[in-house]
Amino acid sequence: MESWQSQSRRSLTEVKDIPNHFNMSADDLFGVTQVFSMKITPYYLSLIQTVGDPLFKQVVPDCRELENHGLYEDPLAEDRDSPVPNIVHRYPDRCLFLISAECASYCRFCTRKRKVGDPVKINRNLIHEGVRYIREHKEIRDVILSGGDPLMLSDQRLESVLSEIRAIPHVEILRIGSRVPCFLPHRITPELVDMLRKYHPLYMNVHFNHPDEVTPLAMEALGRLANAGIPLGNQTVLLKGVNDDPMVMRRLMQKLLMARVRPYYIYQADMVFGTEHFRTTVRKGLDIIRKLRGWTSGLAVPHYVIDAPGGGGKIPLLPEYVQKITDDMVVLRNYRGQKFVYKQTDDVPQQKLVLEDGCY
Ligand SMILES: *Cc1c(COP(=O)(O)O)cnc(C)c1O
Ligand code: SF4
Repeated sequence: MESWQSQSRRSLTEVKDIPNHFNMSADDLFGVTQVFSMKITPYYLSLIQTVGDPLFKQVVPDCRELENHGLYEDPLAEDRDSPVPNIVHRYPDRCLFLISAECASYCRFCTRKRKVGDPVKINRNLIHEGVRYIREHKEIRDVILSGGDPLMLSDQRLESVLSEIRAIPHVEILRIGSRVPCFLPHRITPELVDMLRKYHPLYMNVHFNHPDEVTPLAMEALGRLANAGIPLGNQTVLLKGVNDDPMVMRRLMQKLLMARVRPYYIYQADMVFGTEHFRTTVRKGLDIIRKLRGWTSGLAVPHYVIDAPGGGGKIPLLPEYVQKITDDMVVLRNYRGQKFVYKQTDDVPQQKLVLEDGCY
């Protein structure tokens, strides 16, 4: 198989590289790529079947990225929660550590789309400051390596970060967030996983948004990670025209389970500048969860969350399963919409149960 470095080098990075049959106006797109990085691996390009399909939409630039809909450059106010460059410390016991500016391909809907691909905004030379911050903050027991994509670093560079953080006694678990298994599965080499397994407990959250991304090559890469004892989770972004359909989501989650990846989060799309055309309603997200829960394996049902605009953190959203709670009983709805009563005391009068229109 081609080396990952070679596959990565052959990526499309300029408007002129976009295939003619995509029928895109080079002049329009040039402006977009001046503002937001573009990169598409030949592998991911080969999975695109038609212009405008769900994979195409995720990576091919679109003129609408420059439209102003009142959205934000930094919708989660990550910069405000950044005590030193490259660290986002928002929760009591864990932090994000941005260690790479690069990704294997650039997602058009990325929350950090103004930053990714820019080595000034995510500066590798400042990694030491981040390590020092984690060392000095004893409350941090969980470090999430992110970026950009940490797996775009060489094995040596990544190992130097992992080993420095692993040497900090109060850090209990390490996590890596990566879209490399989706965009560039070639990167998951036996050498990489042999290195990673030295730093357990190490978790990885991967990022797949559509069932067509879970290819045999991606499954092999995920299998190597799972075989190294790395528990795998998946984060999906809910995107219009990509996966805003309960059937597509269900198939995605089922295919991930076959690859030994446990669905972790579905994110409501953040309010990021230039991504208005990807946003869906929360009602749509709740409908997707309702059509997963009960209808397929519980393992296939992730948490649906909104990352609160302005930096409030992730907030879980659930369809209404509890219809009513009183001191003596709870009225519940199951996945089919049928009602049930759970008695919290043993002296709820029969009369009262019947009044809850036909529950048992
Ligand atoms: C998502 C996120 C985390 C991790 O959240 P978990 O719910 O623990 O997976 C940590 N810090 C920041 C700033 C985040 O956005
Ligand atoms: S891989 Fe992640 S960080 Fe990189 S562009 Fe996509 S969403 Fe953003």
